[in-house]
Parts: sequence; structure tokens; C-alpha cells
Amino acid sequence: MTLPAPDSFTPRLLICDVLYTGMGSGHAPGGVVIVGDTVAATGNPAQLRASYPQAHVEQVGGIIAPPPVNAHTHLDMSAYAFQALPYFRWLPEVVIAQRELRGVAGGLAGADQLSRLPVGGVGDIVWSPEVMDALLAREDLRGVLYFEVLGTFPGKADAVFATMRERVETWRKLERPGGPRIGLTPHTPYTVSHRLMKLVTDYAAGEGLPMQIHVAEHPSEPELFATGDGPLWTNRLQPFWPETFAEVIGRTPEPGLTPVRYLDELGVLAAKPTLIHMVNVTADDIARVARAGCAVVSCPRSNIHLECGTFPWTAFAAAGVEIALGTDSIASGQTLDVRDDVAFARRLYPQLDPRLLVRAAVKGGGRVLDLPIPFIRRGEAWSDRYVWSD
Ligand SMILES: [Zn+2]
Repeated sequence: MTLPAPDSFTPRLLICDVLYTGMGSGHAPGGVVIVGDTVAATGNPAQLRASYPQAHVEQVGGIIAPPPVNAHTHLDMSAYAFQALPYFRWLPEVVIAQRELRGVAGGLAGADQLSRLPVGGVGDIVWSPEVMDALLAREDLRGVLYFEVLGTFPGKADAVFATMRERVETWRKLERPGGPRIGLTPHTPYTVSHRLMKLVTDYAAGEGLPMQIHVAEHPSEPELFATGDGPLWTNRLQPFWPETFAEVIGRTPEPGLTPVRYLDELGVLAAKPTLIHMVNVTADDIARVARAGCAVVSCPRSNIHLECGTFPWTAFAAAGVEIALGTDSIASGQTLDVRDDVAFARRLYPQLDPRLLVRAAVKGGGRVLDLPIPFIRRGEAWSDRYVWSD
């Protein structure tokens, strides 16, 4: 009989700046006692030192938490070169200029990058059927692949919806336990006609499919709903738009109309889609989102890089809205590692308790994608992936 080496009986006490265990509000600073491969205790480092005086103390710094969830990205843009530019330059100079790079190869390269990171799951926007086929086959992806739907002409909505529905029904037969699930994403409230938005929402709600929608990313978006005009309208690409914006949304733009209020009054928020960005919102918008029980995903680096503004974190948190974090694509977010967004957000919101940011990246993301999150607590297996340093 071989006894384990004496070292494996010596408890280790890891001390970090921020500990989030997967439940509660976390500790700052925090500590984790590990015996062998098992968590023995978590909490305040001073108390743990007192309880485990024999423990070998390791100052790991940074964050200890379950792997974070990247709740919003565009893996099929992973071959793009990152460039920080104002939104209305970024669209033509990056998204359109590099459009040949968008597709299956980029999607698979992005999935490869994710597989090398500690990541608890991914919410990915999938733009083409070919990319969906490729990503759905990946055994190593957990989370939701949201198929993107666009179409500003209400008269074409039924045809677009019928094609989408046929594809979704095929893909759902390919879902495997533990693998990625199919979701839907009407691109934005202004690039999807009111009729298509309603068809997709009702279908997703009826089938229990998760939804994401990009909402209120740039200040020109509420301007468009209030005036029917502005840079989003004047920079629109023809021939993809009807004569007026009123035709797209099925009502006349008016002061006080916002993309969030529009979605609420259309009945879309009642289906609890996850709302992405939500940077340029009003107090009334936040109240509507809270009432509907929708979660939001913030992409802090992307929003700053594209000069869209700063997500009002404190106001959403005060309203009780579930917040998650996403990188957005490499083209605007720079990397697919959502830990980089946590670090960025700590500088962006110096007043905010960093435990809230870590909790959002872990638990908020798990809620959005309906993924189980491992706990770091007494009796659970320890994993070095819980230490978020590089
Ligand atoms: Zn996005």
C-alpha cells in the first residue's frame, strides 16, 4: 500500500483580491483552502488563516471564480483584424471592408480560441447557415447558438420567417445533450420589420427557444425611433430599406419613442429576450426591462472602442436586472476572453464593487444561457481553472 506524499495532506490557502464561489455575493479579499484536490473552505482570508494555521499560504492575487461565460459574441468574425473606430466608420471600414473574412473558417477559429480559455459557455450570434452547421457539430462548445434574422420589409417577413423556421427545425434535431443549443436573434429593432420581429418572437416563445436582440447600442438608435431620421437612417445601405422608417416599425416615430419602448409595446419583451448592449437607454427603458424580467448583456470594451457610450451598470443593477458580460466580436472587442472585459470594466466603473462584475460574468452569463455553474465550496473538486490570472 502506498501512502500519498505528506505534501498532499498539507492544506493550501490561496488568497485573491476577489473571490466569487458561484453563490452569494463573494469576498474581497477572498481565500480558498484546498486539501488534495478538494475544496475544504472558502471565505475571508484572515479567518481561514486562523482556522487552518498549518496551511501553506499562496498569494495568487486577481480573481478566483468559476470560469466566466462569454454571453455575447460573433465567432464567425474571429478572422477579422480588431480596430477601434467610431461606430459609423467601423461599420464600413471594418465590418464591410473585411466581409470576405466572415464565415466558417473564422467561426471555427473562434471556437478553437474559446476552447483554449477557461470559459463556462458562449452565447454566439450566427449569421449564416453554413456557420451554424459547423458550430453545431463542435463537441466542445456549450451554450447557445443564436441564428440571426434580418429583414426590414414587412411584406417579406412571412417568407423570411418560413425559411428560418425550416432551418431551425432541422438544426434542433441535431442538438445533443451537453452540446450547444439553438436560439434565435432578430438582429436589432430597426433592421427587422415589426412583422418579422413578432413572428420570430412568438415562435421562439412558443418553442422555448432563447433569444438575443442588440438594442440601444449607439445614440443614433433612440434618435431613429424618435425622429425616423439621423445617422442610422442616412447611412443605411440601399436597397435593403423601405421608403420610410415608419414602414419598418409599423408606426410613426415620435418623441419619447425608444427602441425599448417599441419592443415592449410590440409584445417582444414579454417573451423575455436577452437584450445586448443597452447603452443608450432612459430610466423608463430600464424600468420596462426590469418589469419584463429580461436579462441584459454588456460588452464594455466593444462599446468604448466604437464610441457608443457606457452601459449604465448601476442603474440596471439598482432596478434588479440580471446583467451578464460578453466580448462582442474580435473586430470590436479585441479578444474572446471575457476576463479581459471584467478587467476593463473594473477600470471603467471604479466605484462599482468588483464582486458584482465577477458575479455578472459567471452567474449572470449562466442565467442568460441557462447553463449550470460549478460551485467552489467545501467538498467540491478544485480546479486550477478557477484562478483567473493569465
Ligand atoms: Zn453583437
